[in-house]
Amino acid sequence: MGNATPLPLYAIGLGSNRRHARFGDPRSVLLAALAALESDDIEPVDVSPIITSDPLGPSRRRYANAVALVASPLSPPDLLDRMQQIENSFGRRTGQRWSARTLDLDILLWSGGVWSDAMLTVPHPALADRDFVLGPLRAIAPDWRHPIRLRSIRQLAARLVRPKPVDRGAARH
Ligand code: ATP
Ligand code: MG
Ligand code: MG
Repeated sequence: MGNATPLPLYAIGLGSNRRHARFGDPRSVLLAALAALESDDIEPVDVSPIITSDPLGPSRRRYANAVALVASPLSPPDLLDRMQQIENSFGRRTGQRWSARTLDLDILLWSGGVWSDAMLTVPHPALADRDFVLGPLRAIAPDWRHPIRLRSIRQLAARLVRPKPVDRGAARH
């Protein structure tokens, strides 16, 4: 019997701004993390180019960022749990949001749409504000429609780089 129901699809954001003793620089950490994600119930579908970007918050380090599309029967909380196990196995120190970390894995989008509980919010709340997320995501899923913003990733990315329109009401001509 064929499997007629397509598996849920997830977009996972990967970030690193700290060397790993064994895997090496942040870029190599992301490649190792992609390999670690692949498993019996997490099937890689596509991966963006790895980009580097300036740090967010107090850290002075540069980031390596990428986005992976994976198909998985796991629920969003179960997938988050697996991702956190992988973060821990890469030596991530907890409780230091935005600080230097070996590996950050975030659920950006889920084909099921919206998930919201105390531990998990999908789509990722900062997705539409971050060019280091939208850039790689646009490379592999430009037509994915953000279920709350009701715009495609392509549209959200274009909106972010475009300068804000001049407030003509305030201008004197
Ligand atoms: P940011 O969310 O701004 O990217 P961060 O990734 O550095 O910050 P973390 O320290 O990795 O934040 O995660 C803090 C908590 O965020 C996690 O323990 C998790 O419960 C929660 N969280 C909520 N929504 C998500 C999501 N979509 N993906 C991953 N973690 C999430
Ligand atoms: Mg993050
Ligand atoms: Mg995170």
